[in-house]
Amino acid sequence: MSRCALDEIQRRQAAYAADGVRGAWLIGFSLPDYEPHRDLPLFQLVPLRDGVLAPWIDPGDGRQTPISDFVTLLLSRRVHLHEPAAHTLSLSAVASPSNCWKCFQNQMLLVSFVNAPFGMFAPKGWLLAKDLAKVPEIYAAYRRAVPMLLRTVPDLSVLRPPRHAEAKPELQGYCPACDAPQSLHRLSQALLDPARQRCWSLSDGREWSLQERVRPRWEWQSEPEPK
Ligand SMILES: [Zn+2]
Repeated sequence: MSRCALDEIQRRQAAYAADGVRGAWLIGFSLPDYEPHRDLPLFQLVPLRDGVLAPWIDPGDGRQTPISDFVTLLLSRRVHLHEPAAHTLSLSAVASPSNCWKCFQNQMLLVSFVNAPFGMFAPKGWLLAKDLAKVPEIYAAYRRAVPMLLRTVPDLSVLRPPRHAEAKPELQGYCPACDAPQSLHRLSQALLDPARQRCWSLSDGREWSLQERVRPRWEWQSEPEPK
């Protein structure tokens, strides 16, 4: 019931997991930033019903599941995570159609990565392409995937450090046709429009669109099955 920030809950859950302890959280406050995830089962607990102490779980859809029923459902594995398709959760490069300022060729300008592990540079799993080198494990995954990505998407721009050493420690895009550097700063709204962006998984090159992303949600039957 005492208020706790999501990152502190994540820290504690990770510490429990490191000791082999599984945990589910029932919290008496809302956490708008929480995204249902199987590593962090978390549900909102409402302590009072009609002014009476009768704790129930709020799945956000108006149903009210009494806490005793809910714990039974949890322990009998009847609370499920409805997840989006696996490929929409894979670490993927996100690119937008663009034209090289120098050679005018069409290209897919790699602007970001999606489904990155959450971190300082990847809030909610989005990592800007210019910040890629600041997250070494994703940078390494990208570099391993480059040959496969370029076979799959020959017009995809390539990310590399700037040619001048004194430049900022940020990566630059390079035109796949003429190798001219492409700015990744102050990207236009058109380049950031999810409806125009395409994604390619770094693991297998599968192409997908951001419209395929659906939010994961916890599901359970309102009433436990009769014993
Ligand atoms: Zn070019």
